[in-house]
Amino acid sequence: MTGNRFDRQMLLFGAEGQSRLRAAKVAVIGAGGTGCFIIAQLALLGVGELVSVDADQADITTRNRHLCVRHGDPIPGTFKVEAAARMVREFDPDIRFSPVPLSLMTPEGFEAVKSADYVFGCVDREGVRLVLTELCAAYAKPYIDVATGVEPGTPPQYGGTVCCSVGGGGCLVCMGELDVEEAVRDMETPDQQRDREAIYGVAASALGGRGPSVVSINGVVSSLAVTEFMKLCTGLGMPAPLLRYDGRAARVSIRAEGPKPDCYYCKAVWGSGSGADVERYLLKPRR
Ligand SMILES: [Zn+2]
Repeated sequence: MTGNRFDRQMLLFGAEGQSRLRAAKVAVIGAGGTGCFIIAQLALLGVGELVSVDADQADITTRNRHLCVRHGDPIPGTFKVEAAARMVREFDPDIRFSPVPLSLMTPEGFEAVKSADYVFGCVDREGVRLVLTELCAAYAKPYIDVATGVEPGTPPQYGGTVCCSVGGGGCLVCMGELDVEEAVRDMETPDQQRDREAIYGVAASALGGRGPSVVSINGVVSSLAVTEFMKLCTGLGMPAPLLRYDGRAARVSIRAEGPKPDCYYCKAVWGSGSGADVERYLLKPRR
């Protein structure tokens, strides 16, 4: 049989859509439970250039959900971004893939965002989501945030959200999806956290961290996010600003109300580039 590896999807969005995907450079921040799905699907869609930023190595609990980590990979000793690089290479060696085994809050992490055409946030820390919101707004990058939520209980709640910030028309903050106060607490130094805990009694361990994580829920939410990206990149349509997946009810809904007006990030920061001084978030070198 002859043909092109992308023939079946070009039946949906055409050769022009495919060439837009091939010309795109996408940064994926976080290469964990959702990041690995996002990277796999972007590679299979044929995105031409990918940058993956994550400082973490796989641990034994990663094995229930990570597409890129193989049974024989050493633990410790396997960076998630390197495992992702191998997967993409095996899918399609023509894709340019840059693994960045560092925190977003480094010059290399920031450069990955600034040099990209589109940015995915696949992180579970509110502080990092706030920095990504501001950084993408400053440099006018479409930012697709992927968040899963799994709460054990009676009954348990599970699902997630996909927030697409495009053109200053709404972001995590003005759509009520990011708690700025928690994000600021999340970015405190260990000393600042100890001081605040002593005064207010809010344990740092209550912020972010390692909650439940299930492969199929990660897969649904990641697939919703990549589909919204595909619409935007190929010209099929505009992405929904906010999609919510309720796993228990087996329902996906879009947020009906618009973002709050006069958002600082969507208005004042949007497109301001280096004037926003997002570099103030960069990690200070250790003394
Ligand atoms: Zn906003």
